[in-house]
Amino acid sequence: MHHSTSTTASRRDLAVRAAVDQGLVTGDGQPIAGLLDVRAIREAAAALHNAFAEVSAPGQNVLHTFAVKAASLVPVLRLLADEGIGCEVASPGELALARAAGVPPERTVLDSPAKTAGELSEAVSLGIALNADNPQEISRLDALLTPGEPAPAPVGLRVNPQLGGGSIGAMSTATATSKFGVALQDPGAREWVVQTYRDRPWLTRLHSHVGSQGMPLEMMAEGAQATYELAEEINEAVGRRQIDTLDLGGGLPVNFDSDEITPTFAEYAQLLARTVPGLFDGRYGLVTEFGRSLLAKAGTVLARVEYAKAAGGRPIAVTHAGAQIAVRTVFTPDAWPLRVAPYDSEGRPKTGDPVAQDIAGPCCFAGDLVARDRKLPRLDAGDHAALLDTGAYYFSNPFGYNSLPRPGVYGFTVDGPEEVRFATVREPQSLESIVAESGGAHPDALREA
Ligand SMILES: *Cc1c(COP(=O)(O)O)cnc(C)c1O
Repeated sequence: MHHSTSTTASRRDLAVRAAVDQGLVTGDGQPIAGLLDVRAIREAAAALHNAFAEVSAPGQNVLHTFAVKAASLVPVLRLLADEGIGCEVASPGELALARAAGVPPERTVLDSPAKTAGELSEAVSLGIALNADNPQEISRLDALLTPGEPAPAPVGLRVNPQLGGGSIGAMSTATATSKFGVALQDPGAREWVVQTYRDRPWLTRLHSHVGSQGMPLEMMAEGAQATYELAEEINEAVGRRQIDTLDLGGGLPVNFDSDEITPTFAEYAQLLARTVPGLFDGRYGLVTEFGRSLLAKAGTVLARVEYAKAAGGRPIAVTHAGAQIAVRTVFTPDAWPLRVAPYDSEGRPKTGDPVAQDIAGPCCFAGDLVARDRKLPRLDAGDHAALLDTGAYYFSNPFGYNSLPRPGVYGFTVDGPEEVRFATVREPQSLESIVAESGGAHPDALREA
């Protein structure tokens, strides 16, 4: 059966061919699009559920949420909700997206290092769980909640166990000086945390997210262990099981080198169960907040090659995918390398002898390259370049350089052996919309000032 044996790679090839064929990517007007493999998203969600179901106690409450920043697209959030996955939000915009997707408050978690007083009171009145970041935020919550009464929404505190960093500094949230949460090893911090729980019976959760891409799994597990041990210490100190839920954050790294999914959710869950067995004996509810690992492998950015040129002996494919869509890859290429797959003008995989070439984007600065000196069959004008594993943190995290529009995003499913159906997730941004968001309503504002 073709359907049951299809792989992400074979579905991607079919989708690229169909996207060109059906005019989602064209020589005129739409030279770039984002493609999302619906089946891959559903499979990732199922893998996450199964991984934790394998190791948790019967009846244990486990809520998986999706870190909205990784793919801030309403239909993606709705698809994940369909698969039993809620939302982790970190801004009023992300909360609005979760609500637009119909994700209920009890499946939403608000984390952010800079929640305003208004955001806090909205979350509490909606019944959305939130994790406070610091002592000042706890004081704001004091003003909002009635002492001695349970809070209308679950409230936790984010801690930073200060374990160290991973291979990408900007993704490492458990360094000694990370901006997130209460730094547990700072003088007096642990005592402050315990006292804070003692004084506030409404604090019933404990949260830690020790980092994203580049964190070794073992360090993630150590983060969970530190969280668990602190919760045990607090519950012991207050003499009851005040903390009833542990939020373990997200951060499972993604393999950007091949189509293989590694590490898997199952490997992580097994490691957690070995390292911190108490997490899974049923005494605590659990929350997770994975982003990249749920979506990255499902996404492809497909761009036309506008020109193929050479400079200083180096072939250069000038494509329509650059910093406007691959921000991190362009600005920190060593931390965020991407695979580039070559396709011909009709969207068929391109073969031929590998030639070292630069894959450039459309932006007007020299560093706008998504791959340097990359050995690939030589791309020609009219061919296509696909940036792989870009379902998370790429097409939903645009950079507004050169007023380039945000490309359309399309979900795809492969029905028959060759039949690809697309669903519009997001329309390509129109030029009217670019003008509107660039002060188009106020052309005379400065002349009249
Ligand atoms: C970004 C973030 C996540 C998700 O991280 P991934 O690496 O995408 O899994 C989860 N929790 C918090 C608090 C975050 O900031």
